Amino acid sequence: MDLTAQVRAIQERIAAAATASGRNPEEITLCAATKVQTDGTVRAAIAAGVPVCGENRVQELVSHLEADAYAGAKAVHFIGHLQTNKVRQVVGRVDLIQSVDSQRLLQAVAAQADKLGIVQDILLEVNIAREASKGGCLPEELHGLLDFARGFKGIRPRGLMAIPPVSATPGANRRYFAEMYKLFVDIKDEMTDNQSVMDCLSMGMSADYEDAIAEGATLVRVGTALFGPRPPMGTR
Ligand SMILES: *Cc1c(COP(=O)(O)O)cnc(C)c1O
Repeated sequence: MDLTAQVRAIQERIAAAATASGRNPEEITLCAATKVQTDGTVRAAIAAGVPVCGENRVQELVSHLEADAYAGAKAVHFIGHLQTNKVRQVVGRVDLIQSVDSQRLLQAVAAQADKLGIVQDILLEVNIAREASKGGCLPEELHGLLDFARGFKGIRPRGLMAIPPVSATPGANRRYFAEMYKLFVDIKDEMTDNQSVMDCLSMGMSADYEDAIAEGATLVRVGTALFGPRPPMGTR
């Protein structure tokens, strides 16, 4: 696949989706979901104009960092499920951890941030479709989790992230994106003390990023549409 052409095509579709819903295209950031990609492909994506790389396995993050594969990217995010015993390898090494979903994980991230003397930006992940197989807090747990997060000086909540079901039919996830936007607006209203800048709503993947933008996403995570299909699980 010609990455430069792909990046341009996706940026154009992002801009068109933004304009169609009366939004400024600059409000939306493309995050490349780089799982299973090589150092060379990560470098090529950045050279082609991808501003943000999102990594979902700690092992791959560490290996790309060691190879300096993210050089030139505006930011590197962690977007996958994070185990507490692996926070040391992630905190302070990425600009944003998108997938924080429990008090335990918040405590572990905060402890490591304190140790490093840094403030770690995070998103709270919401299991918006209430899928048993997925991470994320339930929508009704979000306010409590945000309060808990705000108790740590080493943590700065920046917004919300969601991974709705793989959409079988076009448009099927719009209601989840709309629900996420409502939660995002609610918690922004709560942060009146301005301790944090709640400016990130991460939702939408290859199949549905335009719908996510129509409903208010500020960051979309795109893998397949950029890099082509990944090998099926278990064959990597
Ligand atoms: C892989 C992945 C994506 C991208 O999925 P595609 O359907 O390939 O675009 C987005 N978000 C997360 C958390 C992922 O793991």
